[in-house]
Amino acid sequence: KDITIATLGSHTALHILRGAKQEGFKTAVVCEEGKDVPYKRFGVADEFIYVDEYKDIVREDIQEQLRAMNAIVVPHGSFVAYAGLSNVEDKFVVPMFGNRDILRWEAERDLERDMIMNAGIRMPRKYDGPEDIDKTVMVKFPGARGGQGYFICSSFEEFQEKIEEMKSRDWITDDDVADAHIEEYVVGTNFCIHYFYSVLNDEVEVLGMDSRYETNIDGIVRIPAADQLEANISPSYVVSGNHPVVIRESLLPQVFKNGDNLVASAKELVKPGMNGPFCLQCLVNDDREIVIFEMSARIDGGTNSFMNGSPYSYIQFGEEMSMGRRISREIKNAIAEDKLEDIIT
Ligand code: ATP
Repeated sequence: KDITIATLGSHTALHILRGAKQEGFKTAVVCEEGKDVPYKRFGVADEFIYVDEYKDIVREDIQEQLRAMNAIVVPHGSFVAYAGLSNVEDKFVVPMFGNRDILRWEAERDLERDMIMNAGIRMPRKYDGPEDIDKTVMVKFPGARGGQGYFICSSFEEFQEKIEEMKSRDWITDDDVADAHIEEYVVGTNFCIHYFYSVLNDEVEVLGMDSRYETNIDGIVRIPAADQLEANISPSYVVSGNHPVVIRESLLPQVFKNGDNLVASAKELVKPGMNGPFCLQCLVNDDREIVIFEMSARIDGGTNSFMNGSPYSYIQFGEEMSMGRRISREIKNAIAEDKLEDIIT
């Protein structure tokens, strides 16, 4: 029976589904009423499966519907966030593109750090406690809340002052303070680099890059410095959009080396390793070092910046290759080579 490429209606579903159609697959989207608008208006989905809440994608009857259409589900950031990581690991039995065991490694900050450091890739220095702060640091709190309450400080005294102020405004709790993650503040420019590791070809491809457009930090910088002090606004880093970007060409050897090393590291730590899209979020400092502060071990939202291909995917493929289409191309090639089992879990 024909395969249907399916995903949850959010995040990167537009080009996952459009790319699947370009490669000749049928498509399905799991959606809440009202959130189907982009998939209808852009005409990328053949089938709509409606749920009351996105987390219902792990419900048994929904899984049955997906299995009945011989679906391969492409997991993205919202899929994991809404379905819940443990549900994806334990309860979701529909075939998924990629290695589902690797998702936990990007979700937990310590595991993520282990995998990136094991690859020999430079990360921001991590501080054991606020007493050790000896230069500008960024203080992060657990839980994905878009960097709400993250702050920058340069000494133990300043750390304490800011913590007290944030507690008095009820932005953070004592538990948050105990779990605070303190890391070196890297002054540099942001690049989120979107890779695809083809298991079939055993090769890492660089498909595109974006930088983030974040509220309210990108709004704050439009206020003159004196007024910023007066306004005393707490920064947040909620992604509201993405800019396509290219990196200076002399940095590309480092870009490829990082991708190759991460794939080697993943192979060692979580068998069978990386499979398909991943993203390294980095800052390039003025020593032209690429410093990685975060990774996604699945398709990242910034791939939306190249739905019709990027300069890099054009160089590689000579056609309009989005990340979504690249996934379906891999599935198509695997079917032709009778290796589908190698790329789904
Ligand atoms: P996401 O939604 O991507 O998981 P998050 O809430 O985990 O975001 P981070 O991605 O860790 O937050 O950081 C938010 C923003 O802060 C980043 O986009 C980046 O611009 C900036 N940032 C993060 N770490 C550092 C650092 N060590 N030095 C300088 N800037 C940083």
